[in-house]
Amino acid sequence: MQSPNFDVIIIGAGAAGLMCAQFAAAKGLRTLILDHSSRLAEKIRISGGGRCNFTNLNASPANYISNNPHFATSALSRYTPQHFCELLDWHGISYHEKTLGQLFCDDKSQAIIDLLDHLCQENHVQRKMNTSVLKIDKTLAGFELSTTQGSFNCAKLIIATGGLAIPQIGATGFGYQIAQQFDLKVIPTTPALVPLTIAPQDLPNYTQLAGISFLSETSLGKIKFIENSLFTHRGLSGPAILQISSYWNPGNKIAINLLPSQNIIEQIQHHRSSNKLLSNFLSNYFSQKLAHSLCDLLKFDVQLSQLSKTQLSAIEQLIHHFQICPSGSEGYKKAEVTRGGVDTNELNSKDLQSKHVAGLYFIGEVVDVTGWLGGYNFQWAWSSAYAAASNF
Ligand SMILES: Cc1cc2nc3c(=O)[nH]c(=O)nc-3n(C[C@H](O)[C@H](O)[C@H](O)COP(=O)(O)OP(=O)(O)OC[C@H]3O[C@@H](n4cnc5c(N)ncnc54)[C@H](O)[C@@H]3O)c2cc1C
Repeated sequence: MQSPNFDVIIIGAGAAGLMCAQFAAAKGLRTLILDHSSRLAEKIRISGGGRCNFTNLNASPANYISNNPHFATSALSRYTPQHFCELLDWHGISYHEKTLGQLFCDDKSQAIIDLLDHLCQENHVQRKMNTSVLKIDKTLAGFELSTTQGSFNCAKLIIATGGLAIPQIGATGFGYQIAQQFDLKVIPTTPALVPLTIAPQDLPNYTQLAGISFLSETSLGKIKFIENSLFTHRGLSGPAILQISSYWNPGNKIAINLLPSQNIIEQIQHHRSSNKLLSNFLSNYFSQKLAHSLCDLLKFDVQLSQLSKTQLSAIEQLIHHFQICPSGSEGYKKAEVTRGGVDTNELNSKDLQSKHVAGLYFIGEVVDVTGWLGGYNFQWAWSSAYAAASNF
């Protein structure tokens, strides 16, 4: 029997793969990381507007979408946002909280890539970039990989190939193919954290609002996010819409409350005797541009004292119960992540190992665990990488 020439091979030198590689190698395991791309961790580089929103202080299983909402609990509790912050502190990488627990690098995202690269090199991780895996065979001792750079054997094979978002920088569905090769189920995938589109025939209804960003409570059934929304020339975007998009399915209507903290009708009633025009009154609550656009949509702009009951009800409907039925999404080209992936029922939640194929692990975004916007996806990459490596 041929003995493996690596203890661990990781496919995918992104966030989860690099993190896992350095943990494995730090344990003295002979570790090889392979990637078909020429550059490490491209998604870290472009993330968070170039400053990588690398975690969220509030990360908990409630911030993740999965067919099994409890699956992430174990991994998230063993490698927390504080652990990652300690790693950055130790290596002198400074960061700040922007909003809602979201931590960003003070400097460029490259600082995190350099840190992971340094940890891999320090622990003697071997690396082969520009390497495509052609075939994977199960052997008695583990796995044999035929690649464009030769054949390699390993006892443990870690799939960290990520999801389908942004194929322009190397995202592929290879991880799902490997899962299927070994008879692991894959939950159907869709783009998530993605702008939503409005059917071309409906777009003229919203042209007045294009380019205007506003704080809103955006909801889909019981799921609600209070963050900014934005009408674009093709549809809807902004953090609240990206968050909702991860829950959205074709045909679903989205409800937008443009003034979540106040009741506009009560406010109007307090000033009922005023001669102020509605658009002027609304600009106490919204930007002038939005206030005028809302009156355009209402098709009236009269003095508050002259508003009829029907008009009041139209105002309430527009401001508190704005409903919109997106026609689709901007797809993987514009998505930040992929919803769906390797079925968590196939994996052990303690170490992300396949329940049926010993030595085969799936970590990071390739798994059916999708985080909210705000640093949660990188936290899952770090936590799942640690969970796998801690059991090697
Ligand atoms: C524009 C953008 C901004 C984002 N910003 C944030 C943010 O600020 N905060 C946050 O938490 N999340 C953010 N995300 C999401 C985050 O980047 C991912 O969830 C995270 O990178 C997933 O880590 P991963 O290691 O599982 O996959 P990835 O980081 O995608 O790494 C996968 C690796 O596998 C390689 N690979 C793919 N297919 C193959 C193959 N066939 N053969 C060999 N190698 C292969 C790829 O080249 C890549 O290096 C952002 C995503 C995008 C697209």
